[in-house]
Amino acid sequence: MKVLKFGGTSVGTVESLRSVKQIVEEIPGNAIIVVSALGGLTDKLISTAQLASMANPNWKSEMEAIRQRHLNIIEQVVPEELKEEVTTKVSRQLDALERNYEGVALLRTLPENTLDNIVSFGERMSSVIVAAMVENGKRYFSPDFIVTEKWYGKNIAETKKTDNLISKAFENIGPNEKAVVPGFISKDILTGEITNLGRGGSDYTGALIAAALDAEVLEIWTDVDGFMTADPRVVKEALIIPHLTFTESMELCNFGAKVVYPPTIFPVFHKNIPIKILNTFNPKAPGSLITDQTLEEDFDVKGVSSLKDVALVSFEINPELKNPSYHKRALNALSKHGIRIIPVANPNPDLELCFAVAATDSDRSLNILQTEFAPEISKGYIQSPLLKRNLAALALVGKNMRNKSALAARVGHSLRRKGIIVEAYSPGNSDTSIIYIIDQEKSPEALLLIHSLIFKEH
Ligand code: ASP
Ligand code: MG
Repeated sequence: MKVLKFGGTSVGTVESLRSVKQIVEEIPGNAIIVVSALGGLTDKLISTAQLASMANPNWKSEMEAIRQRHLNIIEQVVPEELKEEVTTKVSRQLDALERNYEGVALLRTLPENTLDNIVSFGERMSSVIVAAMVENGKRYFSPDFIVTEKWYGKNIAETKKTDNLISKAFENIGPNEKAVVPGFISKDILTGEITNLGRGGSDYTGALIAAALDAEVLEIWTDVDGFMTADPRVVKEALIIPHLTFTESMELCNFGAKVVYPPTIFPVFHKNIPIKILNTFNPKAPGSLITDQTLEEDFDVKGVSSLKDVALVSFEINPELKNPSYHKRALNALSKHGIRIIPVANPNPDLELCFAVAATDSDRSLNILQTEFAPEISKGYIQSPLLKRNLAALALVGKNMRNKSALAARVGHSLRRKGIIVEAYSPGNSDTSIIYIIDQEKSPEALLLIHSLIFKEH
């Protein structure tokens, strides 16, 4: 069985919904269809909630626009014989949503569980519409089988229980049934309250279902032709990557490719279920295929990605008082506090240590290191750590990157020749990527340069 996920733009307009209908109805046999909220709706649901919480009366016109958008779509895509039933159902959901906003406006507060309930209406409504629109469609309610637990204040999927619940939910799926599932939304395992899997989480819903049911493939239908060798807004010559491995796709996502929600890859990777990235607006395009093995015809380097808003935290060590344990202590201290470190090399670990982190974590990282090394700093063994901001991390992603020192040097050399200073880099740190930390302003220029260097022969 296949699991297909359609994102917000795919279910956002009458035209795109017609394309979804055609794609789904061409599938022989049964399938699971996971849908996002209508494009842009989740943002709207949130901004309207914020207006209501400030008792700004404009929330009412926003609510009215949300209502009209849904009713208008129903009018145009739902078959005549189901129109009344679907209109009644969605109107009831819209009324419930409105009552939520009224409550928020009255109390002038927006507790997290209320906001979670409010944003859940996006997928609740889109799934009702899509289920009515496609032949043999049947709507399921994902909070019945996707459960979350609290983890350091965040909701994360409780995968074991979820796995069992999914298997049961789809045990009796009909031979031609198209099971339509709202993405993103879930339920707290203890309280039963509505939760969600985080922004962009519908992809993850698809992955959890595909993994639990041992699906033959997880198809992510979106509005681009697939993973690309670079961000096409910066690099016009960017190419579609026909095939990549799970690890490579994870690395590209970690470094800024916005094709899939990063947690999505893990559950299907674990079960070795291929992922296909396909375009609802160009359904005949081959897309990108993600599997566990490299193929003979694969590009050597799959893509160049850039992650913005990076900072470097570094400190100098008094060479006479060097201590090999400093590096490990710093890493431990940072990761103990949940800081994600972008691995860069420390060419002179006896003289200087540096760590690349997201800019949002930079002040905290500085404090953590200052506390960890307070005794050494006060004795003058090491200098107080320094912060360099406004940096970007460029990543070359591919296979065997650890052994591509000639390529790494060639890229570094070209950057320097253009006057782009490499603040730090990671030759040989990872099998899947080589990272260059550079001035954020230079990042588009560097991306173009590296892309043409690597992909000109294709
Ligand atoms: N509708 C949710 C969002 O916009 C989930 C998703 O589309 O994946 O974040
Ligand atoms: Mg998405």
